[in-house]
Amino acid sequence: MRRSLLSTAAAGTLLLTAACGADEEPTQGDPAQQQSAPEQDADQAPDSDPDSDDDAGSAPASEASWDPASLHVLVNKADPLDPADHVPSDLTPVTAPADHEDVQMRQEPAEALEELFSAASADEIPLVVASAYRSYDYQSTVYQGHVDNLGQEAADEVSARPGHSEHQTGLAVDLSYPGNEDCHLRTCFGETPTGIWLAENAHEHGFIIRYPEGSQEITGFSYEPWHLRYVSEATAADVADQGVTLEEYWDQPAAPDYEDA
Ligand SMILES: [Zn+2]
Repeated sequence: MRRSLLSTAAAGTLLLTAACGADEEPTQGDPAQQQSAPEQDADQAPDSDPDSDDDAGSAPASEASWDPASLHVLVNKADPLDPADHVPSDLTPVTAPADHEDVQMRQEPAEALEELFSAASADEIPLVVASAYRSYDYQSTVYQGHVDNLGQEAADEVSARPGHSEHQTGLAVDLSYPGNEDCHLRTCFGETPTGIWLAENAHEHGFIIRYPEGSQEITGFSYEPWHLRYVSEATAADVADQGVTLEEYWDQPAAPDYEDA
């Protein structure tokens, strides 16, 4: 887990354009690697009061959590959910238009997603849910499908192993638009009106583009302009404003590979 940012991400991104059929996230439980909790300075002298963060370098709006129930849980190739088969307790049906039935997310992101859809509609942006919550078992199936088609190495760039998928947190959603055949879950989605609108507006509703272009060496995944992760509005606004990945925003190590890679 080094922190080398720029390096090789772009190359990987181009290769996979045609392959990212169902965006998944990383999996495979590796209970050993939870990083230590982020800075606990609670007992250190709080030398600045919380109201005085008026300068540009003010504190982040949130910190990474390894609690699977946290809205700020960090899940990537280095950080599996713990337990790996975690199921959110507040899954709720997503009422936004979807291309299949029984779409669920956690309560807060589900409500935020409705607002995002309302805003998109007001701007005449077509939008549909392609995938939201995915269980450990379902992710296993998705990931294995990619392995069968692409081989494990390529599969790991586009699909999370079970237990490593943000979809399993109930906080992530893949979006598309009705009739999208050419750019459905493909990088060219980012150049469509819907993809452009999401990049510009998702943060106002608490979502970020979790796998930005050129960030594979940090996030572990190639560019996914369709995959949104809910982190709440303050954090999303900050992340968008800084133009960084979630790993960078939370000052966590890059997670380009699984530990057994
Ligand atoms: Zn996704």
